[in-house]
Amino acid sequence: MSRKVAVIGSGFAGLSAAATLAKAGYDVTVYEKNATSGGRAMKFETDGFVFDMGPSWYWMPEVFEEFYQQFGATTSDFYQLDRLNPSYRVYFDKDDFIDVPAGVEEFHRLVESLEPGGSEKLKVFLKEAEYKYRLSMEKFIRKPALSFLEFMDPTLIPAVFKLHLFQSISTHIRKRFRNPRLIQILEFPVIFLGAKPSETPALYSMMNHADIALGTWYPQGGMNKVIAAFETICVREGVKFEFNSNVELINVENGIANGIRVNGVNHSADVVLGTADYHHIDQVLLEEKYRSYSKAYWDTRKMSPSCLIFYIGLNKKVSNMLHHTLFFDRDMDKHMNEIFDKKQWPTEPLLYVSCPSKTDATVAPEGGENLYVLIPVSVGLVDDQKTRDHYFDLAMNRIEHVTGQEIRKHVVYKRSYAHSDYQKDHNAFKGNAFGLANTLKQTAIFKPSLRSNRVKNLFFAGQLTTPGPGVPPCIISGQVAAIEIQRTERSKKGV
Ligand SMILES: Cc1cc2nc3c(=O)[nH]c(=O)nc-3n(C[C@H](O)[C@H](O)[C@H](O)COP(=O)(O)OP(=O)(O)OC[C@H]3O[C@@H](n4cnc5c(N)ncnc54)[C@H](O)[C@@H]3O)c2cc1C
Repeated sequence: MSRKVAVIGSGFAGLSAAATLAKAGYDVTVYEKNATSGGRAMKFETDGFVFDMGPSWYWMPEVFEEFYQQFGATTSDFYQLDRLNPSYRVYFDKDDFIDVPAGVEEFHRLVESLEPGGSEKLKVFLKEAEYKYRLSMEKFIRKPALSFLEFMDPTLIPAVFKLHLFQSISTHIRKRFRNPRLIQILEFPVIFLGAKPSETPALYSMMNHADIALGTWYPQGGMNKVIAAFETICVREGVKFEFNSNVELINVENGIANGIRVNGVNHSADVVLGTADYHHIDQVLLEEKYRSYSKAYWDTRKMSPSCLIFYIGLNKKVSNMLHHTLFFDRDMDKHMNEIFDKKQWPTEPLLYVSCPSKTDATVAPEGGENLYVLIPVSVGLVDDQKTRDHYFDLAMNRIEHVTGQEIRKHVVYKRSYAHSDYQKDHNAFKGNAFGLANTLKQTAIFKPSLRSNRVKNLFFAGQLTTPGPGVPPCIISGQVAAIEIQRTERSKKGV
């Protein structure tokens, strides 16, 4: 008889793990507290608008393709994937912007125009970034990171020095470039990693390779098409889904996980894989003696930011914005300082606006526009209605001023989403949106472990464990956890 696996959560990590385990012959059930799958990447539809609630940047397309190929499929079986060109727009002031082009040669031309001679330095910078990206993808990212020994590969010793682990990305970029706008563009991808550039290892210049060389893509229909694709694969492989199933407890007997409890009913399982927020599983779903980490441990983790998002439907087309537009018309350091050090609501935040209806007619009614305005903010803040209203006004004023058009009076739909929504919908620790920050002290074996330290047959995947936050890492996290489960099961049988 097939071994039963209970997967908690149907975000990217849960779906990726469930499909991989089912293909390997396990009897897999996914328990999801919400009515649909997707987790932070859920969608909602209203009044002809289709809003992706979370991820909007489709980076590292090879990770998605590799996943589909494991199941004899390919990306185009599920959606049309288009490369955006320009990749995105960055505003520095009213009517003052740079469109970041798709393509390395075009990016070189941009750099040369901003900083004469910079193109030569960029060549070296991008070569190093590609080296880090390739090495990480080939040698590090798919390790379960359970022990230092996994990284004790003698062939890697010379490489370690080329990874710039002990230098910050901020220093790494500033040593090479002087133009403040170029520096901001090169530091921007680090925002995905959830820490200040001055605290993020220069290892992560690999993200510049992802941005500039590999490109920004868009799945027609929206990011929710990717979730639908993963769910389709799961169903084909025989995965069962239990929606509206808030797991209340992981049942443990003699130190071995043997199932879960949902709505007071026990469901048996040979293996439990938790892909909801690690903190929630560790601190809420387990009795105290079975927790791997203490409250003090969690309180001292550096979290990535949360965010305040406005999902907005407009009854007109907007101009002067692209699919992705960044409003860097305020002091980035000040905003970062308010997020990470002062942990307060920002006074003059940077803004990000996604307008997928620029590329995709299906996500807004004809003649309308679908806007998603995101303000990165510290975790753990109180997000009352007054605060949300203040930031809505602030965002509208800024966007109207910088892009030179009326927007507010064309709003026909508006919904805000912040900390308390992440807590309510996803049991998110401190209302985080993006998981743990990728600082050096929270990388690889220093992340919460993929395997429980206290309970046999209990594993973890998702954005709070290895390799980290972001859709591609979470897909990989699910795969790595699935492989680790199989390895552990085989070693128990002595195979
Ligand atoms: C606003 C936003 C924008 C982002 N933008 C990007 C982007 O552009 N590109 C990118 O690559 N990444 C982006 N990310 C990051 C990326 O979306 C996440 O890292 C990833 O989706 C997390 O997947 P996950 O499976 O780890 O967790 P989740 O998606 O959170 O899935 C966990 C699931 O577990 C469920 N759950 C929780 N508790 C229980 C319980 N007790 N019982 C049952 N189920 C439970 C939750 O409801 C959820 O469905 C963004 C994230 C956010 C929030």
